[in-house]
Amino acid sequence: MRVRPIVFVAAVFAVLTGVVAWVLNARSVNHWLAVHTGLADMSGPYYDFWSGFGSDIAEFSLVGAAVTGLYQLNRKYNCHQRGCWRIGTHPAAGGQFLLCYHHHPDYQGKKPSRELIEQLHREHIEREEALHAKRDETHQPLPENGGGITR
Ligand SMILES: [Zn+2]
Repeated sequence: MRVRPIVFVAAVFAVLTGVVAWVLNARSVNHWLAVHTGLADMSGPYYDFWSGFGSDIAEFSLVGAAVTGLYQLNRKYNCHQRGCWRIGTHPAAGGQFLLCYHHHPDYQGKKPSRELIEQLHREHIEREEALHAKRDETHQPLPENGGGITR
């Protein structure tokens, strides 16, 4: 997935703003960080850290797994057209792609009308019947004399 340049620039700007704010208010930010990570007012080395903030490190893996699962669900069901945020529910190219109605070539950017649904349904039924007829034709038993070949 390519990140849009404006998102990248905004993220870099936000990080730089945070760093500058931290540097300008280093004393109060460092104290706040030490208190909230359990490094201030210690009874022993790292005791408060592992009793407080450090005990949550394992929970970050659970959050990471949940975020990864959501990302994979998004990848699976999101419309395969680049940049589209809709849910893709219509298979295209024999199921190779999953597209939203807006990007599916059969629907031409509109929700499928009743006429289009009926037309596609009839075409599907005709294809299925042609396939069944072809299958029945190829599975006919051979004639008694071996298909007319005589020697
Ligand atoms: Zn789409």
